[in-house]
Parts: sequence; C-alpha cells; structure tokens
Amino acid sequence: MIHFDNSYARLPQGFFARVAPTPVAEPRLLALNEGLARRLGLDTGWLSSPEGVAMLAGNAVPEGAEPIAQAYAGHQFGGFVPQLGDGRAVLLGEIKAPDGARFDIQLKGSGPTPFSRRGDGRAWVGPVLREYVVSEFMHAMGVPTTRALAAVATGETVWRETALPGAVLTRVAASHIRVGTFQYFAVRGQDDALAALTDHVVARHYPTANGPLSLLDHVVARQAETIAHWMALGFIHGVMNTDNMAVSGETIDYGPCAFMDAYHPDTVFSSIDRGGRYAWAQQPQIAVWNLAQLATCLIPLMGEREAAIEAATKSVHAFAPLYQAAWRRRFGEKLGLTEAADAQPLAERLLSMMAQQRADFTRVFAGLSDGAAQDEFTDREAFDAWAADWRARDPDPDLMRHANPVRVPRNHRIEEAIAAAVTGDLAPFRRLFEAVTHPRDRRPEWDDLAAAPLSEQIVHQTFCGT
Ligand code: AMP
Ligand code: MG
Ligand code: MG
Repeated sequence: MIHFDNSYARLPQGFFARVAPTPVAEPRLLALNEGLARRLGLDTGWLSSPEGVAMLAGNAVPEGAEPIAQAYAGHQFGGFVPQLGDGRAVLLGEIKAPDGARFDIQLKGSGPTPFSRRGDGRAWVGPVLREYVVSEFMHAMGVPTTRALAAVATGETVWRETALPGAVLTRVAASHIRVGTFQYFAVRGQDDALAALTDHVVARHYPTANGPLSLLDHVVARQAETIAHWMALGFIHGVMNTDNMAVSGETIDYGPCAFMDAYHPDTVFSSIDRGGRYAWAQQPQIAVWNLAQLATCLIPLMGEREAAIEAATKSVHAFAPLYQAAWRRRFGEKLGLTEAADAQPLAERLLSMMAQQRADFTRVFAGLSDGAAQDEFTDREAFDAWAADWRARDPDPDLMRHANPVRVPRNHRIEEAIAAAVTGDLAPFRRLFEAVTHPRDRRPEWDDLAAAPLSEQIVHQTFCGT
C-alpha cells in the first residue's frame, strides 16, 4: 500500500533504536488531512480504512516500514542533556511523494522507547490536536514546518495530573534531524558518525552544499528565513531547545507554542519559560545560539582547528544580515511595500505604537488592507499620523492580503476546540482547522475566529502538555 524507502534506518547502529509502536486499545480516527495525503500520493480511502487506522495508531506496522526511535541530545533552556532521543515517537519510515520529495512518517505518542526515561511514551488529545491545527496553519501561510497527516484517539487514558484521553499524531517532515542529533555524536567524540550524519543531511536537504562548512551556511540561511517568518506572524515557538531545531529549517515541536493576541515583544506563554528565554523578540538570538552549537559540532570535521573555528564563526555571524533582510522583506510585505521601499522604519514605528497600546498583532496587520486597523488603537491620532505616512508610500493591497492572515489559531480557540474534543465533540476542532487553513479568506461565518479574545477569554499560559 505504501512504499517505504528508509534511508535513516540504513545509517549505522548508534543512530537509533529499533522499536515498534505499542498497540493501543481502541483506535479511532479523529482527523485525517486529505490535502496532505494527496500531496504525499497516499490513498485517503485506505488511510481511513481499519487497516490504515491501525497503522496510524501504531497497531500494525505496514510492510516496508522499519520503526525506529532516533537518538539525539540537546540543550534544554541552555543546559546540556547528552541523551534525549525519541521518547514517545517512532519513525515508521520514509516515503517519496509523487514529485520525488522524501518525507518522514512518524507516529508521536506511540508508546515507550529506550529513550523514554521516566515518560510514558504517550500523548493526550490536547497537544495532538494543537500541533495538528497550528502546524497546518503554518503550512498554509508558507512557513517551513512539519505537518500533520492524522490524529487517532487511542481509547486509553493518559495521566497528566488528571486522567485524559490518549491520542497519536502522525507527523510528516522533510526529516526529524535536529541540531541535537549532531550534538549527540559530537559530545561522544564520534567523528565518523558525525561525518556520516553530515553526508546524509547534505544529500537529503542541501544537495548543492559541499562539506560541513557549506552545510552550516545552508542551515543558517534556512533558519534565518524560518525565524523571520515566525516573527511576521506573531508566532512564539516557546521551547527553542537545540533538540527542537530541525536542520531542514522546518518548524518542529509544537508544544507550548502560541500566537500573540495583544502585541508586546517580550511576550512569553510557556509555563516553564520563567526567564523569558524564548520570548517572541528573543527568537532570532536564540536561533544564533542554537546554530553556534551546530557549528561547534561540525568544527572537528572542518580540518585545521583554528581556521575551522574562524570559518564556522563567520558562517554563524551571517545569520544576522540574512535574518534582517528577511525581516525587512516580510514586514515590508505586511505593509504592502516591496523590498525596494525600505519599509523598516515604518514597520518599527507601527510595532512600537502597537506595543504601547497592546494592539492585537493579527488584527492590526489584517486591518491595514480594509481600513479597520485604526479600530485596534486607543490613541487614534498617533495611528492616523503613522497611516498618513504609510499611505503616501502607495501600499499594494494584494501584497498585504497575501502576507497578513485574517485568522491565526488563537490560544483561546484552540483550547475551546480541545475542550469540546475531550467530550467527544469534534465540530469546533474541524471548524477551526478549516478556518485557519484558509487563513487569508475573509468569510463572515468565521468572523468570531478572527476576533481577539475578550478579557475573560485570554489565555495567559501554555503548557508543554506532553
Ligand atoms: P520536548 O520538550 O517535547 O522537546 O521533549 C523533550 C524530550 O522528552 C524528548 O526526548 C521527548 O521524546 C521526551 N518526552 C516528552 N514527553 C514524553 C513522554 N510522555 N514520554 C516519554 N518521553 C517524553
Ligand atoms: Mg522535542
Ligand atoms: Mg514536544
């Protein structure tokens, strides 16, 4: 039914542990992403059949799959952990889409693995639906991201302080190779494994790269684009540990992530991010910090040490200008201005006004193309003065409508959809999914999902959830 070609499982022994998903009591399909299935060349009829659902639940391993848990290390909030690894996920294998693109098919929440430590290897329905809807919104906006193929209820209880319904997410990614994957071998001094991993990543993601330094250059450039795109959507990843940064440049690990409602650059949602290490405005610096860890791993492969350090440092320093250029382009487009227009001063003025007045990030930008932005400001005069300068630049409404979503998956709406799903009502989740995967469509029937939360609806904290 599915043709697998498992290049990662052909890497040397130490890269993974072979482990099958643990079957669940009563698999039931909660969501199947038909658009993604088509893009992958998978048969939606088969995927939603009992046989297909058995695969998506981890109850049956299809022919050709070689389930493995991948080994990786990582800096968590700046502290190094030499062994993390897939503690509740298995990579079933890789498939090739009709256009030749290679994708990982991973089950998340599929039971314990040798990397589980004290965890149960499971996930509950909340974070599974959250990742499903947020990652698919990101894809709809063109942000490089892992994707969600399916969510399956397990019919089993997961304990997270309280009893919750379990679920398994089928995650699709260009790969699940992380900065932390390199760190795993670097900290063990395994240069041969590092070289094999480098070759694998070059062949898979950056075929024009040539050697470890060139690979680093490519990852730096890709991350600069991805992070700038996050910033332009008011997205806060929330847990930018090095094990949660994919070398493909895709956004990965939607745990405590959130979109800002009221704008402020220091916004943090994650309950465990007490120091604000991963606040919205911190994300570019943290990306550099993470990329410096990748550089450190690659230096032993780069020849003479002094020269290698110098070259790797230069490569990481290239992030800043690349990021700034991407930021200018993205925020310029949000204002309907092309790159040549140098929109940065206007964008910065607007953002500082928004921060002062805690204006809604999504609504201000979406409102620029229909004249509603001013309603988001209490000090209308300041906005009007800004808007006069902006209009004088002759902004292009099509550019704005493309860059600015009308709807993002807001925290309170996600929580509402999860609460309903827990009681067995999937209608709010399905509606939210439809609305945020058509993020630019202005449809009156979805106006409630575009609205900012009322004060009693505001969600102040998000949780890793696991
Ligand atoms: P994260 O914070 O999602 O990046 O996860 C950090 C590490 O904890 C990874 O190695 C995960 O596989 C592991 N982990 C998270 N939740 C669980 C769980 N419920 N059971 C086992 N391992 C887990
Ligand atoms: Mg993770
Ligand atoms: Mg996670």
